[in-house]
Order: sequence, then structure tokens, then C-alpha cells
Amino acid sequence: MRYQDLPPFRNEPLTDFTDPENRRAFEDALGRVREQFGRTYPLVIGDDEIVLDDVFPSVNPARPDEVIGFVANGTAEHAAKATEVAYEAFERWQRTPAEERAAILLRAAELMRARRHEFSAWMVYEVGKSWVEADADTAEAIDFLEYYARHMLRLEEEAPKSVAQIPSEEVTFRYIPLGVGAIIPPWNFPVAIVTGMTSSALVTGNTAVLKPAEQSPVVGYHVAHLLWEAGVPRGVLNFLTGPGEVVGEAMVDHPKTRFISFTGSKEVGCRIYERAARVHPGQKWLKRAILEMGGKDAVIVDETADLDAATEGVVVSAFGYQGQKCSAGSRAIFVKEVYDEMVERVIERAKRITVGDPANPDNWMGPLVSEEQFRKVLTYIEIGTQEGRLVLGGRALDIEGGYFIEPTIFADVPWDARIAQEEIFGPVLSIIRAEDFDDALRIANSTEYGLTGAVYSRDRERLDRAAEEFHVGNLYFNRKCTGALVGVHPFGGFNMSGTDSKAGGPDYLLWFLQGKSIGGRRA
Ligand code: NAD
Repeated sequence: MRYQDLPPFRNEPLTDFTDPENRRAFEDALGRVREQFGRTYPLVIGDDEIVLDDVFPSVNPARPDEVIGFVANGTAEHAAKATEVAYEAFERWQRTPAEERAAILLRAAELMRARRHEFSAWMVYEVGKSWVEADADTAEAIDFLEYYARHMLRLEEEAPKSVAQIPSEEVTFRYIPLGVGAIIPPWNFPVAIVTGMTSSALVTGNTAVLKPAEQSPVVGYHVAHLLWEAGVPRGVLNFLTGPGEVVGEAMVDHPKTRFISFTGSKEVGCRIYERAARVHPGQKWLKRAILEMGGKDAVIVDETADLDAATEGVVVSAFGYQGQKCSAGSRAIFVKEVYDEMVERVIERAKRITVGDPANPDNWMGPLVSEEQFRKVLTYIEIGTQEGRLVLGGRALDIEGGYFIEPTIFADVPWDARIAQEEIFGPVLSIIRAEDFDDALRIANSTEYGLTGAVYSRDRERLDRAAEEFHVGNLYFNRKCTGALVGVHPFGGFNMSGTDSKAGGPDYLLWFLQGKSIGGRRA
């Protein structure tokens, strides 16, 4: 299989839920998944499935009485064992031809396509995604598999041709894998990000220890299972669950870990960065740390903008998946000429958002993912009432004991307020007034983050300026600041949003490889 022989990459289409047949298929998947509630999930280390007595429940955040599954409470010893097993498996896996590894990813994409609604249904129940959000998450996972398979084949073919030749030597250049990767993803894209982070590490010839977030371990298990089914050998992908501070930390610290691929909060990312730098006894390399962290993303609207489109973009960016996206537009910056009108429009539009159990497709917003997240958001709302003017929401909603919070909007927020600088990760929008476009750009760049941003304007010159000066990894004009497409909008941020990698982009796999240069003559 060669890169040229594959059909060109294209994004997986989203499901049209206005079609009654698709709705029925999704309902069926919700039913099938529900029948599997309450199962106990093992750790998987090499060929061993380890069922522990010590388990923790993963619950439905819309109905916390409902247990999705019981998950093993792994320990630092399990992390050490899994890393050793992955280290041994690396011996063979690194020599598996790239075509074989790419073929496994393509097979996984096929399997996921066939069970697409089931993966989405698990997310509706385990992390509170609406049908549409869950469907986009699964589609993105399929995209990662298709994209990285092609990307690996292309690297393999192009690397040798990328060096200059000299008559006196036979020179060649190729990329080789690194070793064992500690894969530590967040819960908010529990299929897409887990699939992307794991498949990128594996297709490049590395072996992996995957530990999904505590809030989405069941979904994580199903992704790992799909990869094994597609042909990833057991020891090549090991699966652990348990507390991040225990299992994740032990994975990061282990001397046989060669790299850490992490997506999550700034706090944990910074901690991993520091720990990864420490060289432990017996360690033969400096660990590479690929860290994707948080955001405090802004949508700017100026007086030339299409205000209808801007209103929609601001609201969807802020409240999609309850604001629990690293790309969420949690700040809206309006220039003074349109400030009052935009505040009114955004409030009116946000009032129409329906909140409730996401298993019901009429609900556009679901619950916060956990009680901890729910409490954190309420604390920020409390802080916000001191810092800005509460113009919408602000309360928890009592629906079946779930972790629901109303869409909440603060207006007249100073640019340097805590709710304008810190990532809240919930349905809370801070609206900030700007004197003019220059001021808006300054405010947009005023946080320590630099992940995504959007500008609504019809002024070409200003957009050109924003392209230069708005310092974010993913910038969008006249559209929302969420919803990056694999291969189209390579994704990842600047500054405290991470180590500047671009998932789903043309150089991403190089993070998991090292170049080997061979010169001289063989005879
Ligand atoms: P988190 O940092 O709490 O946890 C992320 C992962 O790290 C989890 O698997 C967790 O178990 C593990 N972990 C926790 N403590 C650890 C430790 N001491 N050592 C090793 N691992 C540890 O983040 P979260 O709440 O799961 O996810 C939300 C965060 O992720 C937000 O800040 C969001 O912006 C960010 N995020 C970023 C991107 C991106 O591409 N930049 C994408 C999605 C989410």
C-alpha cells in the first residue's frame, strides 16, 4: 500500500439528525449501550486482563445515580508493569513496516464507522454530550485514523528523497520511532482525542501505555478495544485506569518512558513538563513532552460585522458542549459602537438554549461532566458576580440530580478580571467592551493562553492585521472559534496553551519520530 494509491483524505461527513432514519439508528445505539451499563472494566497489560476488586464507578453526569461502568483503580505498580511490557513490545513493533501499521489504522477507521453511533452513545451517557456534539467527536476520531495513516505513508516515502545526494556516498534519511509513550488524554473529547493521541503514537512505530481521564474511562476502554480488534498487538497498546496523580504520574516518571503525549489542563501540563525533565537512574534519554493545554479563547466583533452571524458564532462558541472545550469562546470582545446591541442579541439568543439530559436530542446543552467541575464553575460564577454584571443565568438547575448549570453571561467584564483571564471550562461567557479594533486585539492577546480565536468583521485590512497580530494557534474569520477539522485546521495553541504541536496537521507525526541519517558507502 502506497500513499498515492489511497483515495485523498476527506473529512467524515456529520450525521444529519433531521433524517428520521438516522434518528432511529441513534436511538437504537443508545438502547444497545444502555444494556451494557454496570459492566466491570479491566486493566489490560500485555495479554493480561486484570480485574481488580478495587474499582470506581463512572457515572452519567445527567443522572449521577446511573453507573455507566465500574473501572479498575490502577496503581503505580500497574503503571510500571505496563511500561515494562510496552518497552519489550517496542523491540518488534518498531520493525513492523509502516504500511502494516497504517493499514491497522485504516481498519480501525472502518470498524469505527460501522459502530459510529455506539461510540457517540457512550459519550452521551458518560460525559454528557448532545447527539450532535458526540457525533462530531466520533467523526473526528475517524478523521484522525484516516489522516495519520496517510501521513505516515507519506513520511516513509518522502523522507529518503528529502536529503541532497553527493556522488561519493550513498546517503539516505529516514524517521524512526522513539520508544514507549505515556498517553494521557482529557475527558472532553473522549473518542476523538484518545484516538488521535493513541493512533499517532502507534502508527509511527512507538508502543503505548494509555490512561484515559477518570471521567471517561469506559469510552476510553472501547477505543482501546477497537484498536486491538483492528490489529494492534496487546503489548503494543496497554490500557490503564486510575487516578491521574497516581497512575499518570508513575507513567510520566518511569525511566523507560521515552515520551509523554498529554492533553489537559495547564496546571497538570506544567507539572508533567517539570517531572519529564528529571533524569531517573537507568534512563538513557531525555523525555520528549508533547503537551496540549487550556485556553481562554476570544471572539472579537467590530462595527462592520454581520451581527446576525456574529451573535450565532459567539453563542455557539461559548456554550457548545457546555463550554467544556479548550477552544470554547469564553470571552466575547465587542467594540463600543456595537457593544450594547451585541450584548442584547447574545442574551436573547442564549435564552433559547435548551438544557437537560442530552439523551433527549431536544436538549442542546447537557450537564457539566462531574460534580467537581460543577462546583468549580459555580465558584467562578460567584467570583463573576463581584467582577462583572450578571445578565443571564448564573444558577444550577435541579434536573434529576444532574450537574446542570444555566448558560451564564457576564457583561461589562474588565479585561483583566479573573473570569476574563482564567479558564473556567463551563457555560460562562465574559463580555468585554473595547474602545476600537486595536483595543479589541490587545484584549484578545492579554491572557497567558493562545489557543483559538475568531474575528467577525467585514474590514479586510483589519482581518489582515488580525492574521498577523492575534497570537493564537487557530484563528478564524467570520465563523465560530470551535470545530477545527482534521487536516483542514491543524489544531494546537501557543504560549500556555501547549508545546505548539498541531494535531491533525502535516508535521504532527514528527513529534513521535526521530530522524536517522545514513551516509558513506556500503561497499
Ligand atoms: P486534567 O489536566 O485534569 O487531566 C488530563 C489528564 O491528566 C487526565 O487523564 C488525568 O487523569 C491526568 N492527570 C491528572 N493529574 C496528573 C498527574 N499529576 N500526572 C499525570 N497525569 C495526570 O484535564 P481535564 O480536566 O481532563 O481536561 C480539561 C483540560 O484539557 C482543559 O484545560 C482543556 O482546555 C484542556 N484541553 C486541551 C486541548 C488542546 O488540544 N489544547 C484539548 C482538549 C482539552
